[in-house]
Amino acid sequence: MISKELIKETTVELLRKASTQLPADVKKALEDAYNKEEDEVPKSQLKAILDNVALAEENSLPMCQDTGVHIFFVSVGKVETDNIQEAIVEGVVEGTKVIPLRPNAVHPITRKNPGNNVGERMPYFNYRFTDNDYLEIGVMPKGAGSENVSALGMLTPAAGIKGIKQFILDVLLKAGSKPCPPTILGVGIGGSADIALKMGKESLLRPLDQRHPEADIAQLEEELYTTLNDVGIGPMGLGGKTTLLGVNIEYAACHTASLPVAVNVQCWAARRAACRIYPDGRVVYTTHGGD
Ligand code: SF4
Repeated sequence: MISKELIKETTVELLRKASTQLPADVKKALEDAYNKEEDEVPKSQLKAILDNVALAEENSLPMCQDTGVHIFFVSVGKVETDNIQEAIVEGVVEGTKVIPLRPNAVHPITRKNPGNNVGERMPYFNYRFTDNDYLEIGVMPKGAGSENVSALGMLTPAAGIKGIKQFILDVLLKAGSKPCPPTILGVGIGGSADIALKMGKESLLRPLDQRHPEADIAQLEEELYTTLNDVGIGPMGLGGKTTLLGVNIEYAACHTASLPVAVNVQCWAARRAACRIYPDGRVVYTTHGGD
């Protein structure tokens, strides 16, 4: 039996890791970008980001003042557990106090802030059920700067691949410096309006060094990454070679009469953390190198 206390404690640890330590693939992408830039301005912006990331890790403090709202991805294997959702919500309340995290979750109309990052449907939960012998919990703290420029396009099927590329380019250009570039584009193609948006966000869970398993989608990811970097927005919007750290795509079959495309924009602070909890009490942090 995986206890409520263990899930709660692990949630606090996940939130701490997510907000204070970037996953290795994102750090590497930022370092590679720093090495690639030649001009002083983009280089200095990337250096400031990398210094900030190192300081956050060293001092176990959030790498950005916007610690986001919390989107959880829970895969429930064939294990006996206490109430998972209740335990995670308690972990969010505790994590907000002890890490500390900025209380970002407010009522959308009254703007009332309970001060603990918990509100109606927040944290938000995505569930899956698996045959695994563990419970897997992932969290993506999502800042507003990048989320606010995310977009959904309900294209006509006739728009085709050309229309998809144009839509993604338009989203990137309209976003400009607002999402704290270099950014990662999480693209969802197909499904329905809500499925496309969800796939866009979920694609951001995939490490930057892993391409889509299907060759033609992987090729589209590469092509968009290379060509869109030529727009020259650059680190923090001050120009340069690095506008994007990556493009991840997920797709789903869709109605013959529609072509939904969603872009979930993620800033350089591409925070995510995940772990597996086993019934014997072992916790393995899959995004942050082990136990
Ligand atoms: S967009 Fe990202 S890096 Fe910029 S303020 Fe928001 S969370 Fe921080």
